[in-house]
Amino acid sequence: MNFSKLPLTQAMLTNLDALGYKNMTAVQAEALPSVLEGRDVMAEAKTGSGKTAAFGIGLLHNLDVKKFRVQALVLCPTRELADQVAKELRRLARFAHNIKILTLTGGESFGKQLGSLAHQAHIIVGTPGRVLKHLNKESLSLENLNTFVLDEADRMLDMGFLEEVEAIMGYLPKSRQTLLFSATYDEEVKSVAHKLLDNALHIKTTSVEKPNVIEELFYKTDDKLTTLVKVFSLKKPKNSIIFTNTKLEAKELAEKLIERKIDALAIHGDLEQYERNDVLVQFANGSTPILVATDVAARGLDIKELAMVVNYDLPHTLETYTHRIGRTGRAGAEGIAVTLYENYESEKAEEYRADAKRKFLDADSLEALPEIEMKPEFVTLVIEGGKKDKLRAGDILGALTGEAGLAGQDIGKIDIYDRQAYVAVASAHIDKAYKYLKNGKIKNHKFSVWML
Ligand code: ADP
Ligand code: MG
Repeated sequence: MNFSKLPLTQAMLTNLDALGYKNMTAVQAEALPSVLEGRDVMAEAKTGSGKTAAFGIGLLHNLDVKKFRVQALVLCPTRELADQVAKELRRLARFAHNIKILTLTGGESFGKQLGSLAHQAHIIVGTPGRVLKHLNKESLSLENLNTFVLDEADRMLDMGFLEEVEAIMGYLPKSRQTLLFSATYDEEVKSVAHKLLDNALHIKTTSVEKPNVIEELFYKTDDKLTTLVKVFSLKKPKNSIIFTNTKLEAKELAEKLIERKIDALAIHGDLEQYERNDVLVQFANGSTPILVATDVAARGLDIKELAMVVNYDLPHTLETYTHRIGRTGRAGAEGIAVTLYENYESEKAEEYRADAKRKFLDADSLEALPEIEMKPEFVTLVIEGGKKDKLRAGDILGALTGEAGLAGQDIGKIDIYDRQAYVAVASAHIDKAYKYLKNGKIKNHKFSVWML
């Protein structure tokens, strides 16, 4: 699984190492040996599996930098994906100087693209419509093409690009390497693959990648807060992370939810480290059902069994969307991903229709639901003592179920740090537990205690 097993230059290997790519992903390990031999490859692999590098390393390997002509063309279904692929290719291309990668996507000035093309490029990443336009106008020549990549072939066809892709095929040189990537492989993709590929190696890594099971719902609304509360009433998630695009919004949304009787905490960049920890502990141990977070603040957060993810705003990129919702529906459990958008965000929301399993619903359909109240199952007590005081979870559990008289099932997660311990106590019994710990002892020792 190590990149050094591949016939790559030392400069490329050093760069991969610098990028933190220690081992190949499954699709890279299966595809790259054949890709580097120059063979056609058709790969089925899920989102986030590292497909860009699986073809990117290959096309960079084939590239003759001194020959300043278009040698590789990558087609992507959307401008956003083309930008992401170009960005990843630029990172992969850092090992060499002067590799020019140009994006050709719709929505950008055609004239400006003409200017860039006149200055030549090694690699073109683009969307079918715009690439075809340049081919038709002869501003783009594929005479020197070595590698053709069709990325996200299934989405491309879902979006109705079959005609453009077929027209582009007519411009490709006969002798070339073709790499086709797709998350699924249905009859449509098969027929395109058949026309494009020659004696291709077919690989499929989707079976080793455990898929998340996520119900993806999109609601158009002009009152996001009310719609969100109604969605909670409908789905009754045990816990949920709500993503906002700004930290101010995260803070304000948590406050507004509390006013609507939905218990929530916000985590954002303005919190001190200890405050951040208090919030994370409370969310993980069930002392708040809702965490409102920005992407940055949620980085590295690993909460198992997340019932729902909410995009309170449309994420800036599809990658962010995928990353966010990938936090639910893990390891076979069923998750729900809810995305809210207002009329002014409609155009951006339309891009998400490319995936047919996403459901677009009317927020009005939720109107009849009574609004739910969401209270935490537990309350967190902080004990001013930890590992350095030789305090163990068993000591706290023993004190609370012994002299304090609580039942074992009323005590939740116990987290012990160096100087502090957090114990989750069922809300109904919190007063009893608090009173005991404030006055009584743990392991014959008095500790200060407070409630979060
Ligand atoms: P896909 O196209 O399959 O959805 P991407 O190519 O966008 O996936 O890769 C997903 C993420 O994984 C990117 O952030 C990329 O930088 C990273 N990545 C790719 N290959 C590796 C690797 N071998 N080791 C570590 N990270 C990788
Ligand atoms: Mg990709």
